[in-house]
Amino acid sequence: MEVSRRNFVKMLSMATLGVAAGNVLTVNGRAEANESKGDKYIVNHEQVPAYYHFKLGKMEITTLCDGMGIFTPEMCLTNLTAKEINNLADRDYMPRTAKGIATVAINAFLINTGNHLILVDSGKGAVDGEIFTEKHGLVTEFLKASGYEPEDVDVLLPTHLHADHICGIEENGQCIFPNATLYLANQEKAYWLDSDMSSQPQEAQIAAQIARTAAKPYIAANRVKTFEPGEEVFAGIKSVPLFGHTPGHTGYMVSSEGKSLFIWGDLLHVKAVQLPHPEVGIIFDSDTAEARKRRAEMLPKLAEKKQLVCGAHLPFPGIGYLEKQGKNYHFHPIEYQLYH
Ligand SMILES: [Zn+2]
Repeated sequence: MEVSRRNFVKMLSMATLGVAAGNVLTVNGRAEANESKGDKYIVNHEQVPAYYHFKLGKMEITTLCDGMGIFTPEMCLTNLTAKEINNLADRDYMPRTAKGIATVAINAFLINTGNHLILVDSGKGAVDGEIFTEKHGLVTEFLKASGYEPEDVDVLLPTHLHADHICGIEENGQCIFPNATLYLANQEKAYWLDSDMSSQPQEAQIAAQIARTAAKPYIAANRVKTFEPGEEVFAGIKSVPLFGHTPGHTGYMVSSEGKSLFIWGDLLHVKAVQLPHPEVGIIFDSDTAEARKRRAEMLPKLAEKKQLVCGAHLPFPGIGYLEKQGKNYHFHPIEYQLYH
């Protein structure tokens, strides 16, 4: 495997640690075991590149992991007490630190239709912040590892314009996907890119500035198009309005040869809490009441249809099925397949 710059820097720092611990380093970065000090086995602590391919009819879908978001559930979620939220998190074995900090996956989805290579969401890119585990988002690195190049992507189709979904398309004023056109829902573009934000809350103004920076080189290159949610944006890719989380938040129903996948973006963020309690909102929702209505409408339909779903913040690779259990829902992740 090619050693990326990031991995190389990490290897260098591991090398320093290895020397400090009295180990002898070999050329490939592995230390020789020093049994007398209790480190018989030298472990590579990095995971494999996080992408997952699967077939959907004639299409190929590739889930890409961007890293993780960090949050404190009881500070971000509404409608329940801290105790209730933590009980639900415990019941779902949600990983949390001793201080109650939880992680949530950030996923993006690549669709190879045969005619187009479409990237739905793009991770956080170079935007930094305390709410992310990674200094730089991993979508592009894992897209390359999965066998594609950024130049191959001809369509960018974000679910909405929050930083963890859009900022992976741009860096230092340049398009990361130089041959791609950015397709945006009319309402999402109108709110985040075109409206006067001066009367909006400060967080929204900052978020709009971040979205405008990400879109800027595509606008400059005249490569931004809009669509009306509800329309088929490309053959087999129908947009579905999920307004509430943001004014133009949009899901995509992807269909090929009788198979389908519903990409829901941020219909929910914390499955441990929002599936048993779809009424629970999150502070990142532009309109909590509308976002709650969308969950109340969509979850029963998706469960009843036994619809294959995927979400930007479901545990990587973020694909599975919903089952209705009384008033609540449960997520069944798909089983890993070696080949498709
Ligand atoms: Zn969002």
